[in-house]
Amino acid sequence: MSKEIVVSGVRPTGRQHIGNYFGAVVNFVKMQELYNGYFFVADYHSLTTHPEAADLKAKVKQIAVEYLACGVDPNKCALFVQSDVPQIPELYLIFNMFAYMGELEREATFKEKVRSQPNNVNAGLLTYPVLMGVDIIIHKAAKVPVGKDQQQHLEMARVLVRRFNNLYNVEYFPEPQAFSFETDLVSIPSLDGEGKMSKSKGEQTCIYLSDEPEALRKKIMRATTDTGPTAPNSIKPTAVKNLFDLMKLVSKPETIQFFDERYNDCTIRYGDLKKQLAEDMVVFLTPIREKIKELSTNDKMLSEIIGDGGQKARASAAKTISDVREIIGIKSF
Ligand code: AMP
Repeated sequence: MSKEIVVSGVRPTGRQHIGNYFGAVVNFVKMQELYNGYFFVADYHSLTTHPEAADLKAKVKQIAVEYLACGVDPNKCALFVQSDVPQIPELYLIFNMFAYMGELEREATFKEKVRSQPNNVNAGLLTYPVLMGVDIIIHKAAKVPVGKDQQQHLEMARVLVRRFNNLYNVEYFPEPQAFSFETDLVSIPSLDGEGKMSKSKGEQTCIYLSDEPEALRKKIMRATTDTGPTAPNSIKPTAVKNLFDLMKLVSKPETIQFFDERYNDCTIRYGDLKKQLAEDMVVFLTPIREKIKELSTNDKMLSEIIGDGGQKARASAAKTISDVREIIGIKSF
């Protein structure tokens, strides 16, 4: 029996933080052992914000390097760049005919972009969810490892799949589902005390995989807290709970229990908690950071990996496009 297919991707927007790691990569790395995996760098997606050409190339390389350093294994999956697969834009064109203006205009991310970049509300932004869907659909993926923040975005992919299958009376595409090895999809908190970790909130609010220990310690020591608990066993305010949540990712259970007890009897010193979190984070990230450095200098190996990954992705995508053309009636004479 052929293995189920899993697809994951990331926009080349710069260094990856631990939100990306725990939300998507760690799941993909486990899944590549069990599934037929495709991992891609979504360079077309980043064009909606008009990045500098030289900058874009460097960022694509950086993402590929960082994901390899995290354990994405090119011998077990296809690691590729979106723009190396011309079948993606073809399927994107076809699926744009199945996406309606009203539903695209109602997407939360589109509305947010209209507010945040009023001088660049391009058509690519409007149809962004279609391209996201196509990235998954093109390989007929059943599972997509994502963080909680992306759960909603997958709905568009499912809508498009259902619409296509119904319109042509086929059961060709599976409906892709968000996937995490945790019971729930995860959301890694920001260091500023509110919301999820996100690059858009600034360098100081994110813990990057490539952060040097000193930079990491400084950021964590500056993380938002409050003045401390005033009554025993009180509920932790969000900023403090966030630090405990970060600890759960990298610290030993007994360490967490130790600080939990100090919190509950009101003797906690947040400075000590942060110091411990910083040290545990440094230990966790050091092998990844060192691997990133090592891989960054090996352009030849990287281009071979991306070349092979592109070939595998094109083979899978070409089969889908050929089937879709047949189904929708674009047939050769
Ligand atoms: P992005 O950098 O927004 O393109 O996200 C790439 C992947 O990382 C997606 O699967 C997101 O769900 C995941 N991700 C990004 N930020 C977080 C976060 N703070 N918590 C959990 N997952 C996240």
